[in-house]
This record gives sequence, C-alpha cells and structure tokens, in this order.
Amino acid sequence: MQSKRVNKWLAWGAVSLTALGVGAAIKSLMPPRFNMQLLPAGEGGTEKQQRDKQLPDVDIHILRCGSVFWPELVMVRGSLSLKPRKIAYSSVLVRHPQGTFLYDTGLSGDIYQHLKDQPLPFRQTLARFKVEQTLRGALQEQGLKPEDLDFVLLSHLHWDHVSGVPDIVGVPLRVNRVEFDAAKQGVIPLHKGLVWRLMEGSPLTCFDLEGPSYEGFRSSLDVFGDGSIVLVPLPGHTPGNTGMFINRANGARLFFLGDAAHVAENYLYPTTPHPLFWNGVTSDKATALQTLLELHHFARSHPEVPLIAMHDARMQEASMQVENERLARI
Ligand SMILES: [Zn+2]
Repeated sequence: MQSKRVNKWLAWGAVSLTALGVGAAIKSLMPPRFNMQLLPAGEGGTEKQQRDKQLPDVDIHILRCGSVFWPELVMVRGSLSLKPRKIAYSSVLVRHPQGTFLYDTGLSGDIYQHLKDQPLPFRQTLARFKVEQTLRGALQEQGLKPEDLDFVLLSHLHWDHVSGVPDIVGVPLRVNRVEFDAAKQGVIPLHKGLVWRLMEGSPLTCFDLEGPSYEGFRSSLDVFGDGSIVLVPLPGHTPGNTGMFINRANGARLFFLGDAAHVAENYLYPTTPHPLFWNGVTSDKATALQTLLELHHFARSHPEVPLIAMHDARMQEASMQVENERLARI
C-alpha cells in the first residue's frame, strides 16, 4: 500500500518535471518581453555638433574572412524558423585621411592551428566556421600590406574578433580599457590563453571613452578629433564592447556594433538570440538588454543609418553593395 502511494507520487513528480521542462523549452522560443515604456521618444536627425563639422571623405570596405550557418531560431529568439542565417567573421577596413585602420580582424591563415588545442565541443559549436579568405589575402586584394595599417581598433576581446591578428603581427592594437581590465580579471572567456596568444607580438594600448555623451550613448571618443570616427560604449555582451560611428562627406553614416547585436532583428524587434546561445556568449545580460534597447531606440529614430553587427552577413553584404555602387559612380 505504502509503495503504491510512493509510486503514485513519483509518477506525478515525473509528469510535473516533464511539464516544467517542456514549458521552459517553449518559453525559450518565445520573444523576450521588454518594457518599452522606459524608452524616450525618438527625436530623429543627427547631432548638431556633427552637422556643424566639416567631415572628411572616409572609405570603408568590409573584409569577410569566414562564415557559418546557424538556424534563424538560434539568432532570433521568437522566430520559429530553421532557415539558415549566415554568420560572418569580418574586419572593417577604414581609409581616413589621417590613417588607415581596421575595426576587428576577421580570420588569420593559421586560425585552425590556433584552435586545435581547444575542446571538441567548442570547436564544433562557437568555433565552427569556414574560412573564405584570410585577413592577409583580403588586405592584398585591397592593395595593402600589414605595414600599411596604422592601427587596429578591437570592438572587444572575444577570440573571434582578434582571430586575424596573427596575419598582421606588429600592427598596434587599440582596445577599450574597460575591456582590457575585464579580460585581465578573467571576466571574459580567454579559452586557455588563446586570446592573448592571438595578440602575441603586437603592441596593445588602451583607450578611454571619456568624451561627451553621443547620440544617446553615455560617452564617446572622437578618434581623429574631426567628428568622423566616433566610438561609443555598447556594454553587456562584454564589459567594454565598443561601437563605431562613421560620419563622412562622401557616403552614408554607418554604425558598427561589435557584438552588441548578432543580427538586425536583435535591435529591430528587439529580441535577443535564443537563450541557449545568448547566455553562453553574454557577460552581463541585464546590461546587454539595456544596450539592445538603446540600439532599438537609435535605429527607430535614425532609419537612415545602417546598424551593422559584426556577425550579420546580410547587413554587411547590403552595406557593401551600397558602398560599391557609390564607388562605381565616382
Ligand atoms: Zn563577442
């Protein structure tokens, strides 16, 4: 009699746990709820100080070094589509009158070599990609040698953003001090020293985003002092993830996001990637959500500015098409 009752309770327990598990799985596919009441109303337009400045010509070229396909429901929470989305591994080449530099670094020729001592599950998931061209090859196509680069701005210190550095050893690296300090303290996954090994032999200096708030973001750094290249903090994905505005006389404004979003839907809806992926790659979820809301607000009030996430192949291809058409007209 006693054991029958125990069995009954065990059966109920199993059913309840299964129901909870199924519920959690279904919930993980639902879009996250954001409190949109907290958003300020969009004011539109560009900042006055920037309009007043005489902007230089700046050419950009997105160098795509590799890619991988993930189902859309992984990159966009709330999407139930298994449609493959192309995730890019890219670097942005910026030619400014005062300097030629990269924002992030794509992939180096020996990247598989660097990854070979990493655990298999990591290599089969986050480090699974196809190299399309090495950073060095992509630079050659642009008529550049590593020594033609003045410096590299790193959006953040995840391995897949410093993964092209071995192709340009010696070019000075610049990183947000907040990010560097977080990496030193082990807040960012360094994969058994992989991140430091990739940067070996390249001098690294830190910058501080100590300028005034800019376009609703809390502070800024005007890289050349002419209003054309403005860095802003987009924390959460990592503590020092840094975005880059490009303001120029010869083309559209652009806003590169590092990994503050992965694809455009993340800031347009807004929605995070699926929690199974997002929880694994996000340093501070509350801050990352706040940043996504700020990006959502900016995107709504500046529909003329493309926001380009560093893994969003579709946005990068669309931007390069516009850029190539502009260059063809010259
Ligand atoms: Zn990242």
